[in-house]
Amino acid sequence: MKHLFISDLHLDDERGAALAAFERFCAGPARHADALWILGDLFELWVGDDSPDAIGARVADALSLLSTQGTRCRIMHGNRDFLIGAAFMARSGAELAPDPIVIDGLDPLTVAAHGDALCTDDAQYQQVRAHLRSDAFRSDMLSRPLAEREAIGAQARARSRETNANKPDTIMDVNPTAVDALLDAQGAARLIHGHTHRPGHHCWERDGVTRERWVLGAWEHAPIVYAEADASGIRLVEGV
Ligand code: MN
Repeated sequence: MKHLFISDLHLDDERGAALAAFERFCAGPARHADALWILGDLFELWVGDDSPDAIGARVADALSLLSTQGTRCRIMHGNRDFLIGAAFMARSGAELAPDPIVIDGLDPLTVAAHGDALCTDDAQYQQVRAHLRSDAFRSDMLSRPLAEREAIGAQARARSRETNANKPDTIMDVNPTAVDALLDAQGAARLIHGHTHRPGHHCWERDGVTRERWVLGAWEHAPIVYAEADASGIRLVEGV
């Protein structure tokens, strides 16, 4: 079983190059994989499946073709596209994956997550996250007219750019204690995540067992960094 992991494409009208790279990725490496895992923030902003979004349609087409050709596609919500719903999944042939999720068939036992829930040093962010990801917010938001949702989304995006610009780098990374707690809870020794846009590979020891954390890259930065895992191991791959 070959699994590919990508995240943080942040696709929108202003990122034509990332969309083209995603289409190349689907026609190339992903076609030769058994499973594609999109670990959040596929889109820069998603305000509902009813949005007549040309990028959404192209992404759904690429994923749908991939599923037809035999690659099972899973999408995890990120902090920007957590309103992706059942209609988009049906249209793209992809399945919604919970965050976190244990990936079948990899050794050591591997957990995948978007990563934002692990950034526990940013208490303000975690508070906002709890509100935004609640069922109450979701149903309230989706009950509003599309134009209103678009306005709210644009506002939230501007606000997040502003607050993030004033935050120290250290609090915007994952917290090691939160990472260990997640691995403990899942009985896993390896974590794959995105969100922080800091691609890399980290190893440490816990109770005599080596633990690993693999971080995916954002698609707005070159080269694009994604992960490939199979029975023989895991590696980061650069470029599409
Ligand atoms: Mn994110």
